[in-house]
Amino acid sequence: MSKVRIYSLAKELGLETQKMLELLDTLGVEYKSHSSTLDDDLVETIKGMVAEQKAESAVLSSEPVASDPASSAPSTPTPTAQTEGKRETPITQTAPSETAVATQERESDVAVQTPPADLMPHRAPVVTIMGHVDHGKTSLLDYIRKTKVAAKEAGGITQHVGAFEAQTSRGKVVFIDTPGHEAFTTIRARGAKVADIAIIVVAADDSIMPQTREAIAHAQAAKVPIIVAINKVDLPQADPDRVKTDLTQVNLVPEDFGGDTIVVNVSAKTGVGIEELLEYISLTAEIEDLRADPNGEFKGVVISSKVDKQMGVLTNLMVQAGTLNVGEFLVVGEGYGKIKAMTNTAGERIKSAGPSTPVQVLGFSVVPHPGEQAARAKDEHGARDLIAGRVDVRRDLEALTLESKKRLLTLAEVMGSLEQIREVNLILRADTQDSLEAIQYILSKYGNEDVVVNVLLAGVGAPSEGDVLLASTAEATILCFNVTAPGGVQRAADSRGISLKTYRIVYELEQEVERLLKGTVEPVFEERYLGRAEVRMVIPVPKVGHSIAGSYIQDGLFRRNAKAKVSRKGKVVFEGTLIGLKRFKDDAREVTQGYECGVNMDWDGFEVGDLIEAVEMVEIK
Ligand code: GDP
Repeated sequence: MSKVRIYSLAKELGLETQKMLELLDTLGVEYKSHSSTLDDDLVETIKGMVAEQKAESAVLSSEPVASDPASSAPSTPTPTAQTEGKRETPITQTAPSETAVATQERESDVAVQTPPADLMPHRAPVVTIMGHVDHGKTSLLDYIRKTKVAAKEAGGITQHVGAFEAQTSRGKVVFIDTPGHEAFTTIRARGAKVADIAIIVVAADDSIMPQTREAIAHAQAAKVPIIVAINKVDLPQADPDRVKTDLTQVNLVPEDFGGDTIVVNVSAKTGVGIEELLEYISLTAEIEDLRADPNGEFKGVVISSKVDKQMGVLTNLMVQAGTLNVGEFLVVGEGYGKIKAMTNTAGERIKSAGPSTPVQVLGFSVVPHPGEQAARAKDEHGARDLIAGRVDVRRDLEALTLESKKRLLTLAEVMGSLEQIREVNLILRADTQDSLEAIQYILSKYGNEDVVVNVLLAGVGAPSEGDVLLASTAEATILCFNVTAPGGVQRAADSRGISLKTYRIVYELEQEVERLLKGTVEPVFEERYLGRAEVRMVIPVPKVGHSIAGSYIQDGLFRRNAKAKVSRKGKVVFEGTLIGLKRFKDDAREVTQGYECGVNMDWDGFEVGDLIEAVEMVEIK
């Protein structure tokens, strides 16, 4: 018996894949994803139903049955835009027992009750390509640009607007052409979403590498659907099956392994598989049901900007909803500009741009940052008003002291813990793969029905700025084991309020996780003075390997395991722990003022006359 994939059948019948899935749901058919297969009998039943349906709706409505929406998705307002949602309506009436009367009722429902979102026209998907360095991100983008961008655009002087539009058999696909996940994460870190779909490129001869994991973590944190492109399959040493097996380790189980991750073998060199990849992008877009109203409120996001010596500030912007027109005022952050000129990906001057259109605009006086949301104002006055409002909000926020911000946070955490399952998002960094696995193993025992530990990313090596961005998008804590963050990374974390900590002892890291799980605020310790001693004799102890300081406690007391500082002529020469205290030959836990003792600080540098000051760390309640 032959089998037909769901999406192929949908295509054959001129239905959206999403509608086909709804139909299957109505029929109670089980499937894994849109690429699952259907048996012949079922296919025949569905064909019959759809034919019947078409006949019925032809009688009831003069409007044509929905055709493939992706290929007809307009990116600028057109008269057909408003009718598109309606055209699909008859096809949702697909249960076999339903009659023409039911169809009629539903038709009138649409007019009154269907939320406007359903009536909005489809928009092209915006796609980003991410993955490990040298796995072929740039090559893949180049190949698609060369083969899928309209000839005049590919051949002419293309404008680099941070994205390009590929024409595929199923419609337009917009690719963000700043490869790597920097653009994606910087934009996400500002709370904006620019891509609808993430392509994770994995080289078939190299499989999953650290940046692949990072890219996957970023896409997952942003809740963007992922398609995996296994690239370089033309190489003799290519091993796509190994990549597939490795993918299962990062929770991306390929469809042919029983999961629902779409994996396509491609070669950016020969072009193999790229048509299929584009097809899957369109399919995923269909399922995501991406829509935007060209006549609605304008929404846009900055992809990048630069300053041109002659022209001024050039800003690459993605129009996400509404339509942007030359002459309008745009507000980004606390700056604004009047759009003097607008250019499309082909380098042509345009007057207006609709949803999913990347454009370059000229007219800002300040340089907007990637990820900043752009709002439209009617006129200069409106722009200034909008900005004044933003300045007020910012000042109010700044007026909140750090303390009250902390209190707000704690309250939010408490509320969270009462209302829902607590989720603790972590990014783990360790010195070796072994320690990383050990830590993950230890943490795996912490989840229960009330709390979930999500390890978004576990990597070997020091944490990066990318980790900080991921942490800020996903509200995660970065825990490092035996690796320290470079200064810049630590500062980035501090400025974003991300907790980034390094541990040398697994147990302490575990305690931190326990604290996070309980939602308790990290305890604050204060150094409290314990006592002071003078070194009167340095006793070499070859057996121990270093000397012991024969000391006299002048004040307070010394306690074993207390922290201590050794100073000489007013300068601290050593800081450590009182690892051993001896009264004559016996070990002592504590020695008080007026007594002599031997002090072991696991240090060989004592000199007669040194002062040792012991402190203890006390938790402040
Ligand atoms: P990126 O760092 O991910 O952007 O990777 P590049 O696109 O710069 O590619 C890295 C190297 O791999 C370059 O030398 C490319 O020519 C090569 N490369 C990329 N894709 C393919 C492919 O499909 N097949 C082969 N054989 N080489 C490829």
